[in-house]
Amino acid sequence: MRIQVTDVFLRDGLQDEDAIVSVEDRIALGGAIAAAGIGRIEVASFVNPARVPQMAGAGEVLAGMRERTTAELTVLTLNGKGVARAVEAGAGNIQIVTSASQAHSTANAGRGIDEAMASLAAEVVKYPGTNFFAGISTAFTCPFEGRIAPEHLLKIVRAFKDMGVRDIGLADTLGTTPPEEAMASVHHVLDAEPDLTYYLHLHNAHGRALETVDAAIAAGITRFDAALGGYGGCPFAPGAHGNIATEELVRHLHAAGHETGIDEDFLAQAVKLGRATLARSPRVAEPAAH
Ligand code: ZN
Repeated sequence: MRIQVTDVFLRDGLQDEDAIVSVEDRIALGGAIAAAGIGRIEVASFVNPARVPQMAGAGEVLAGMRERTTAELTVLTLNGKGVARAVEAGAGNIQIVTSASQAHSTANAGRGIDEAMASLAAEVVKYPGTNFFAGISTAFTCPFEGRIAPEHLLKIVRAFKDMGVRDIGLADTLGTTPPEEAMASVHHVLDAEPDLTYYLHLHNAHGRALETVDAAIAAGITRFDAALGGYGGCPFAPGAHGNIATEELVRHLHAAGHETGIDEDFLAQAVKLGRATLARSPRVAEPAAH
């Protein structure tokens, strides 16, 4: 089967490192990721750089990447203000993110779920020409609230659908959800809203994310987020671990006979460049809260 891998290293990976990678270096890394054949790359988030200094210069990274590659470039936003900034910077594919958990929403987006959704909805409606897709963080498990009920997750999916968003990502932000629990939620949502498109964003604290991937593919999901080198985490979700590593996911998919269009040797070079770049980048003045 053809599986699409979205690399989120430049956003999810870098936001959780205590290093500030320059705009130039981020563009060079994005170039290496694109050169490996990854067709969809999340390049930055438009969030407050005072809270997440690693993401300063998001617009410049996007502009630089646009010159460098024809890969589909996406950016992440958490509220209406972020959406407006992303559109202004020329973003064509904007991920709008909310948490399934009230407590994580308050910690991550600075506001509760309803307020965050209303802020996003008010802005999204202004840009009919922009491709919006939705990410739901802590979709299965919340660091503060524990297991998220599938019925509650479905309510959030439907709220995005009401906004006109038909492409929905379910994120295991902590990376601790057992595959069978994640899939129970996935099936609950898929059965209730089968006409939407879904992708998974899996962190991998328990080392079982590939099992979830296999089960999700069997359920018809064909798009997955992953981060080069297994970097990543949420500065506002205590205990969050790295994403499923892009190179591990790709190796696993190829071994199972799936096609990705990704060259594993070039991907290994991108991983090396990512590690080296992080090692020589200046540290964040005050480490991000964990
Ligand atoms: Zn993540």
